[in-house]
Amino acid sequence: PLTWRNQTTTPTHKPFPKRQSLSFMKRRMRRLAAQWASAARRLDDSLRIQWREQKRVSILVHVGFLTEESGDVFSPKVLKGGPLGEMVQWADILTALHVLGHNLKISVSLKELLLGVPPGRGSCPLTGPLPFDLIYTDYHGLQQMRQHMGLSLRKHKCHIRVIDTFGTEPAYNHEDYATLHGYRTNWGYWNLNCRQYMTMFPHTPDNSFMGFVAEELNDTERLSIQRNKVDSMAVVYGKEASMWKGKEKFLAILHRYMEIHGTVYYETQRPPEVPAFVKNHGLLPQQELQQLLRKAKLFIGFGFPYEGPAPLEAIANGCIFLQPKFKPSHSSLNHEFFRGKPTSRQCMISFLQVEPYLPYEYTCEGMLERVHAYIQNQVSFTPPSWPPLSALRLLASMEGQSCIDACQSAGLICEPAFYRFINIKEAFSGLEVQCEGLEAEMNHIFPAFSVESSECGLQKDPLLFSCAGANTKYHRLCPCRDYRKGQVALCRDCL
Ligand code: UDP
Repeated sequence: PLTWRNQTTTPTHKPFPKRQSLSFMKRRMRRLAAQWASAARRLDDSLRIQWREQKRVSILVHVGFLTEESGDVFSPKVLKGGPLGEMVQWADILTALHVLGHNLKISVSLKELLLGVPPGRGSCPLTGPLPFDLIYTDYHGLQQMRQHMGLSLRKHKCHIRVIDTFGTEPAYNHEDYATLHGYRTNWGYWNLNCRQYMTMFPHTPDNSFMGFVAEELNDTERLSIQRNKVDSMAVVYGKEASMWKGKEKFLAILHRYMEIHGTVYYETQRPPEVPAFVKNHGLLPQQELQQLLRKAKLFIGFGFPYEGPAPLEAIANGCIFLQPKFKPSHSSLNHEFFRGKPTSRQCMISFLQVEPYLPYEYTCEGMLERVHAYIQNQVSFTPPSWPPLSALRLLASMEGQSCIDACQSAGLICEPAFYRFINIKEAFSGLEVQCEGLEAEMNHIFPAFSVESSECGLQKDPLLFSCAGANTKYHRLCPCRDYRKGQVALCRDCL
């Protein structure tokens, strides 16, 4: 089995016994270096003028979850299939910031954070003015900063960007509101501008979509992938044995049609959750997983993990990704419906010709373009407005619909930066809404109106402007904008 532990070819550097998470990131950076470099050259050609005028900023990157103080819980798990997605994303963020030419200081321990300043700027008591324009961290890092900086963290708040895999919606971010209305969680309530949270996928436009990259293919690779696809080969999405629990029946059916491969971590013996007919490779180095995906036709999920880079990598390598939808009401009723019918999808998949597909926003060039736009335009969230106001399209949602869905159904995307322009009484008359009463309230649904009571509500606290909020009694006022195909974070005139 090809576990990393047995690997003898790469890496060329000395293994890091304690910080496996760092060596995983290093390996990824090295492997994708050429791809980043050519993306930078292409972007350089297309953004030539703005490029020269770009602000070079000084950035502190403090990866809180990797610090020993927060347990560096991931290092021991890296070789066992731990959450590699976060490390993929951090490796890509560090690379993008470096390639964009900014002045980077990286810290993966509290000691480094406390001492960490760019050379020549003196020592850095975290209580004084921080010599950084931007600080990228995560929730763990934020907590550590609060512990060590106390109230002075407030002064630096607007410089902070939180890498937040799952995203934080406005109702959860606003401390008082979250506490009063049952949105309080272990993570949220930092009272940041929600666009300071940068997510792994574009979950809600209330946050900024940071993303990550998947490997790109050249024409020769594309062709060879299409030629060498094995129609009857499936790889299962699930690195940990626990993800396979209770899936024996499903796998047995799938096995009638396809040869099943897995990459489940194991020490000496096959994990009992993985049936004997599965070809288990053990956890593979990323590069070898890519090779496996290039041959496979199908990448199949069990519902968990819910999201991560691997499905995108599979699609980029010409696989079809199938993920079951589990609802609480999933019962024998649903199974009745399918009984006796051949699983047509599986049959179809083996005949279907698909091409490797990677959306632009998950390429190195796409990520560089987006991060560049954020750094140049979002350093402060104060006017002048970005995205440009010319992109604003005002819509009313249907009753119970969020602005995410309302904008999406008009082929647009909700833009939280525009809420402050539409949070005015004229917006209601612009949409021919008759307001008998008009109140300003702290309510994450507002601005909104109720047809039944003819009441209109404006938002009292800008921190509660929310694309995600929805309430069955209200139509919401939605600030939408256009977006670039394959780069939802940016509008047509955003660059
Ligand atoms: N991965 C890997 N070897 C494997 C399985 C996965 O290197 O055997 C990598 C994969 O290429 C992906 C990363 O692990 O980039 C994260 O995978 P996943 O989507 O499962 O996300 P996670 O749940 O780890 O956050």
